[in-house]
Amino acid sequence: MSPNAFSTAVLEWFDRHGRKDLPWQQDITPYRVWVSEIMLQQTQVATVLAYYQRFMDALPTVEALASASEDEVLHLWTGLGYYSRARNLHKTAKLVVEQHAGQFPRSVEALAELPGIGRSTAGAIASISMGLRAPILDGNVKRVLARYLAQAGYPGEPAVARALWQAAEAFTPEERVNHYTQAMMDLGATLCTRSKPSCLLCPLQSGCRAHALGRETAYPEAKPRKALPQKHTLMPLLSNPAGEILLYRRPSTGLWGGLWSLPEIADLKALEALAQRHALQLGERQPLAGLSHTFSHFQLHIEPWLVRTEGAAVQMAEGDWLWYNLASPPRLGLAAPVKTLLERAADILNPGESA
Ligand code: SF4
Repeated sequence: MSPNAFSTAVLEWFDRHGRKDLPWQQDITPYRVWVSEIMLQQTQVATVLAYYQRFMDALPTVEALASASEDEVLHLWTGLGYYSRARNLHKTAKLVVEQHAGQFPRSVEALAELPGIGRSTAGAIASISMGLRAPILDGNVKRVLARYLAQAGYPGEPAVARALWQAAEAFTPEERVNHYTQAMMDLGATLCTRSKPSCLLCPLQSGCRAHALGRETAYPEAKPRKALPQKHTLMPLLSNPAGEILLYRRPSTGLWGGLWSLPEIADLKALEALAQRHALQLGERQPLAGLSHTFSHFQLHIEPWLVRTEGAAVQMAEGDWLWYNLASPPRLGLAAPVKTLLERAADILNPGESA
């Protein structure tokens, strides 16, 4: 689609389906659009509606907001969250009154210098309330464009953000820029939704690359995960002649809290101490396939060893230790990798049955 065809399709869709009855779409002023944009930054339209009306009733102009107390502003914001938005709103109102004689500056660059107003919010205020040709790239528009272009990479990366801004700029029309901006936000919020985009209803469908690839939800790409710290542990599966495995219950707080687990040791030399503690004689040992488990804050590499032992009292169920019967497993809470390892041990010790 050419940029012209793109914006025409979006505007035609807006004429037929766009939202035109939102309170900030009535009596449009830079002040009213600005307040709505700030409220909508981290909050859904449905939630914003009631707050917006209350805010406008109490503080209908930028002068009223500038002369309100911070307590009053925060009170009107209570429940919306992200209170720095309200504090910045208050600061900006004072600046607009004191330094711009109560008039919002008429350029994206000057608007973006005001506290709490980024480039996209500045673009929305400039286009919707002043009719200036200014692109926006809020979360919704980012999603639409990243999918339309099948833009690779995480939009937080400067090169990816640049590509999306360039596209936003190229597609923004000269005429009806106010409706176009509103339409793009609506399209992202109502059709090109995060998990289930309604491509069949979308005016951009014929040119959308992500749709053509059938990979709509692959874009925009997620933030790359930081490399997690790596930890290594050795887990011996001490088996007794009855084919049972020694488990212990982890403390109720912390990792795998309260779950039954295999003992952890730093290396094979520490096996002796473990065996002595339970009056076991160590026998043959054999390595099992290693296992990695990812926690939110680190990755654990488990080196499991199946170690045959003799000599323990067979019915040991001492405090937080027990012999786990692989052939008829008790109902215990097990950490996921431990369950896997027990199944592997069962395949070796009791072929034909499983843990
Ligand atoms: S066709 Fe689908 S994925 Fe592409 S912009 Fe439209 S709704 Fe989003």
